[in-house]
Amino acid sequence: MTRSGIGWDSHRLVEGRPLVLGGVRVPEALRGLSGHSDADVLTHAVIDALLGAAGLGDIGMHFPDTEERWRGADSMDLLRTTLSLLRSENLAPVNVDATVVCETPRLSPYRDEMRASLASAMGLPAEAVNVKFTTAERMGFVGRGEGAAAL
Ligand code: MG
Repeated sequence: MTRSGIGWDSHRLVEGRPLVLGGVRVPEALRGLSGHSDADVLTHAVIDALLGAAGLGDIGMHFPDTEERWRGADSMDLLRTTLSLLRSENLAPVNVDATVVCETPRLSPYRDEMRASLASAMGLPAEAVNVKFTTAERMGFVGRGEGAAAL
């Protein structure tokens, strides 16, 4: 049986934080995502899609932002923990497709690195992980640069 899941996340962009997406730091970003963990919006959306496909709830149930132990958490660790939750249900991802919605900077130079990083945390070949980038055409909270989102 094949299952599918969907994940969505958004975080506010603020000064003084690194921009980390799919476990990859984007050095030319002038601002980064704010959150209890490293606020890696791409990885959070992937985690929610995996949990959704597995029928295991959502990221907030497993890694609540009210818990001190997740403060500053590396989202790739959360992704690896999610994989072990799936494994205990005899489930494993086959492929992942994701979209990041962010106005600036240009993220495509980091595509392969993000694919490899996410794939490695999920025990998948990089070809099984697709990462796409788009802007919001200067509309809405993404377009105004207030935040970034991922699906
Ligand atoms: Mg999040």
